[in-house]
Amino acid sequence: MLSGEGRNPGETTSIPMIQQYRIAKYLIQRKLSGEKRFPLVLMLEPLFQCNLACAGCGKIDYPKETLQKRLSVEEALRAVDECGAADGLSK
Ligand code: SF4
Repeated sequence: MLSGEGRNPGETTSIPMIQQYRIAKYLIQRKLSGEKRFPLVLMLEPLFQCNLACAGCGKIDYPKETLQKRLSVEEALRAVDECGAADGLSK
């Protein structure tokens, strides 16, 4: 919620104004460029392994060598660049 809709008058939002501005700028730029689909956030899991065992999760069934796979810093940074979501929010 960027506009604070549903809040009481005078109640502040938890999103800082500068971040709201950057998100709005990013959205407007993407819309004006004609893109119908674009990323808002990047959720990156640099490692596949998990130390929990939630019911119904199939992750635990993967072989050890798959679970121990990791993204390198370079791969993670490349994913950030490839995603593009952070572009509009960091400037
Ligand atoms: S759902 Fe699977 S991957 Fe997610 S926390 Fe639970 S065990 Fe880990």
